[in-house]
Formats: sequence, C-alpha cells, structure tokens
Amino acid sequence: MLRLIGTALLSAVLTSAFWIWFYNFVPQGTPTVVRSGNVVAVKPDQEAPVLVSQQVVVGPAGLALPVIGIKADQLVDTYDQARGAGRRHDAIDIMAAEGTPVIAAADGTIEKLFNSVRGGITIYVRSPDRQWIYYYAHLSAYAPGLHEGQQVKRGQVIGRVGHTGDASAAGPHLHFAVNRMAPGERWWNGTPINPYPLLAGKRAGG
Ligand SMILES: [Zn+2]
Repeated sequence: MLRLIGTALLSAVLTSAFWIWFYNFVPQGTPTVVRSGNVVAVKPDQEAPVLVSQQVVVGPAGLALPVIGIKADQLVDTYDQARGAGRRHDAIDIMAAEGTPVIAAADGTIEKLFNSVRGGITIYVRSPDRQWIYYYAHLSAYAPGLHEGQQVKRGQVIGRVGHTGDASAAGPHLHFAVNRMAPGERWWNGTPINPYPLLAGKRAGG
C-alpha cells in the first residue's frame, strides 16, 4: 500500500516536472503580436472593412471605427436624421455601453477639448494636412493626460463612451463627425460629410 502511494507520488512529481520543463524550454510557436494604441501594416481594403488587430476595424476610407468592440455591420446611418428647428444631425451615432473605449479614427493633433451644452465632453482632432476635423462627443471621460496640442495616432484610446451633453442616459453613444476644413477655418467651423460610408464601406441603404 505504502509502495503504491509512493509510486503515485513519484509519478505526479515527475509529470509536473515534465510540464514545467515543457512550458519553459520548448518554444510554443510565434506569439501573436498585439500592439495597443498603434495600427501596424494597414492596407485599407476597397471592398470591405478590414480587421487590422484584434479589435481595431479600419473602413474603406482608412478610418478606424472609433468605438472598440463595434463591428461595421452594427453601424446605423444617422447622418440625415432631423434634430428639430431645421437642424440636421450631420454625424453618426455609434451606440455602445457607457465607458467603452473611444479610439482616434485617424492620426492628427488634438486642437480642442471642449465641454458644450449639446456635445458634452468633446474632442476635436485636426488631420496632419489640416483639411479635416474629427469630432467626438458625449464622452464620459478623456483618456488620462489627454491635452490640446497632443499628437494622436489612429487606434489610440482618446476617451470613453458616455452620455454627457444632450445625450440620453438610457442610450450612451459616441457622436462622431467628419468635417472638411477650408483654409483658415477654426475648430468650430467646417463642412460635415457623412461618416457612415467611410466606416461601413457601403452607401446608406445599400
Ligand atoms: Zn449624434
């Protein structure tokens, strides 16, 4: 009986020793490279959005879908929605849980961090060629340390989804706008274009 227990014990010790050796000294294959905050080797697909890392989806225009965990086919074209008093929406609302990370859709410089009645906590990012402003609104928070003048990279976390401003607590979302900027225009100017086909890779209703 004692001999039996001894044998079992010895075999258990030898087995664990083997696995410890195996995991420490036998190569386990090439590790998956996941680079947070940076999108590496991106070649935007002309047909459909492409997955460039575990979580960052880049659409046909080269813009990253700015809410982590949301897929292109979950997007709804809300650009032409009427907002009362002759106002149009001029942006896309991307529904997501409160606190979901918001990433920069494209490279640029943070031109303005602004808290407004309608937009709540917002970010205005100017493209390097200065011809575009990417606008992120209703955030619950900025990424720690985010400041005006800071360079951001596509895929970098810049804030969190929320419902600040005139958004409903029952429907937290990112309000995302893309504005074409004429020379000399300031962060509050610009002419909006519809972000939906840029992110979803298809025309509204198509
Ligand atoms: Zn909106």
